Amino acid sequence: MPTHDAGLMLVAGGGGFIGGWLARDLLARGYRVRCADIKPLDDWYQVHAGAENLVLDLKDLANCRYAAAGMSRVYNLAADMGGMGFIESHKADCMLSVLINTHLLLAARDAGVKRYFYASSACVYAADKQTSTDVTALREEDAYPAMPEDGYGWEKLFSERMCRHFREDYGLETRVARFHNVYGPHGTFDGGREKAPAAICRKVIQAKRSGALDIEIWGDGLQTRSFMWIDDCIEGINRIMESEIREPINLGSSELVSINHLVDIIEEIAGVLLVRRHDVDAPKGVRGRNSDNSLIQQLLGWEPSTPLAVGMRETYDWIAAMMTGMDAALPRAGAMNR
Ligand code: NAD
Repeated sequence: MPTHDAGLMLVAGGGGFIGGWLARDLLARGYRVRCADIKPLDDWYQVHAGAENLVLDLKDLANCRYAAAGMSRVYNLAADMGGMGFIESHKADCMLSVLINTHLLLAARDAGVKRYFYASSACVYAADKQTSTDVTALREEDAYPAMPEDGYGWEKLFSERMCRHFREDYGLETRVARFHNVYGPHGTFDGGREKAPAAICRKVIQAKRSGALDIEIWGDGLQTRSFMWIDDCIEGINRIMESEIREPINLGSSELVSINHLVDIIEEIAGVLLVRRHDVDAPKGVRGRNSDNSLIQQLLGWEPSTPLAVGMRETYDWIAAMMTGMDAALPRAGAMNR
């Protein structure tokens, strides 16, 4: 029988945006943490000296067994993903993440892991419930009848169900959160995988720097979304992991904004007013999406509540610092810890 250490946690995707923050939080709360990610260590957003950091391809079962050995809990935040520009043009890559979750579940089951967290997404929700900017917020049951985002969303929905059946058939306690757009520092802001908040920050900073005071916006800008501040995401993961909530649950902000309003917020932070060019042929995803937080409120008495304007200011400042080469002022955690 495997031996357990109550405090040993695996963060799969620990070199990524959310995984990096989760590992930091677990370490701060006194847990022993192992991070695993496919990227070379130099490309991790945060490298925590206090953690064991492994470069592994978790699509491979043997690597998952190695990573899960001796773990008490597994957090699966590893996926080949990005914003709409990436997921609309990399559907097979997104679906291949099914290997990560499948093999991690098998490895966790066989290693006797006590509890397993899976990072799902609002992209599981049926497309026909997201056709208007004036959205009715999505409730958990709106994922069925199933018609999720092609590629990425199908993989998430399938993996959610696999978590459920590992719990039912093998007794592995699984917890699943459906994240709605998460934003914050130490994430992607260029290169093609970035999401709207970081992409718009980057474009505003570039416009301000160059003096060419215009900005390209994907779509007509009327499409609506909600965005969750990273600290709320980490708190939500912890609360859901500690809870007895066994079915997938929304983890998102319910502050609905149009993309145009998101640009307004970032312009105000930057102190500029830009001429907007709308590229209506660019990838834009569903027309409108918001998180209905009734269930999380009911079960946890809590929901993500950091105002968008507050979190965006910190995100903007971090991206600006990275872009202006001020790494010394705001170093990556890796630079601080190594
Ligand atoms: P991210 O891309 O920053 O992190 C994912 C990490 O997984 C990356 O570091 C990547 O290198 C790693 N990875 C990919 N393939 C791997 C493999 N084969 N083996 C090991 N590691 C691998 O993304 P994120 O924003 O931190 O997202 C974390 C999780 O949350 C993902 O499952 C994502 O689908 C989900 N999610 C994120 C958001 C969001 O807004 N950020 C929204 C919904 C769901």
